[in-house]
Amino acid sequence: MTARVTVVGSLNMDLVARAPRIPQPGETIIGGDFRTAPGGKGANQAVAAARLGAQVSMVGRVGCDAFAESLLSNLGAAGVDHALVIQDPEAATGVALIAVDDAGQNSIVVASGANMRLSPADVDSAEAAIAGADALLLQLESPLEAVTRAAEVARAHEVRVILNPAPARSLPAALLSLVDVLIPNESETALLTGLPVGDQAEAQAAAAALRVLGVGTAILTLGERGALLARTGAAELVPAFEVTPVDTTAAGDAFVGGFAVALAEGKSLAEAVRWGNAAGALATTRLGAQPSLPSRQAVERLLAGV
Ligand code: ADP
Repeated sequence: MTARVTVVGSLNMDLVARAPRIPQPGETIIGGDFRTAPGGKGANQAVAAARLGAQVSMVGRVGCDAFAESLLSNLGAAGVDHALVIQDPEAATGVALIAVDDAGQNSIVVASGANMRLSPADVDSAEAAIAGADALLLQLESPLEAVTRAAEVARAHEVRVILNPAPARSLPAALLSLVDVLIPNESETALLTGLPVGDQAEAQAAAAALRVLGVGTAILTLGERGALLARTGAAELVPAFEVTPVDTTAAGDAFVGGFAVALAEGKSLAEAVRWGNAAGALATTRLGAQPSLPSRQAVERLLAGV
């Protein structure tokens, strides 16, 4: 059975320039290499799920510029259905302006553009794609009203709602109570709960606090420590796979994609977290965001220990 996953979220073009250092305010410096790379958490997670074999539909907004063409053809090449990505004549495609210095530090300006014009009405137009999915994937690079409407539509059709609350921001209880599975990383968890997430006891307390906020299941991603799965009556740490990381960009997006596909295929929560861990670990072993998202074969090999 092919899992069906619908993603309501962001698409950005990442514009990445190397520079000897990050410029000061008012300063212009000569940089080094420049490259463009498709990004946006929504699109990254859509591509992550498609690489793992799911049938994926993306809902979002881009502009009518060259970046839009490039992002849409990239999604198509990854096998993601983008018929529900609206091309907005009045807004620019979302971009992330990224400067990376010689020490690997970066500074980023995200100009969300069309992403922030995704509306509840757009989501309503995508009702059939949401209703027909085994899981709905949401992040926070889109307007909260659209994210909330998507969760409502999914709930109305008994489709599981998975929210990756990134980038971090506080959330209304009305949205949290619509979420079946919340997948924050450590800093997002700290922001949502006001609690520290240092050791495992703290992570467990924070996960419990998230569940009190109305979330069905909380899964805290803990980088090289793996992920904490917290549901009614139990919290278990699912350890990470041991790899040699070269770039942790998109590890979280790979985790969410891997988890969602496994859950949509009917696997248990614990098994789906193992899929997330495997996809996340593999994503750290390659450079970049979407280029580092692993294939199903690579994830299955890691899971099988071969
Ligand atoms: P984010 O990238 O959103 O901050 P994390 O750093 O928690 O998220 O990473 C997401 C997941 O990717 C982790 O839960 C883990 O499964 C995997 N992962 C991240 N870093 C490593 C690592 N160094 N070794 C193995 N797995 C990792």
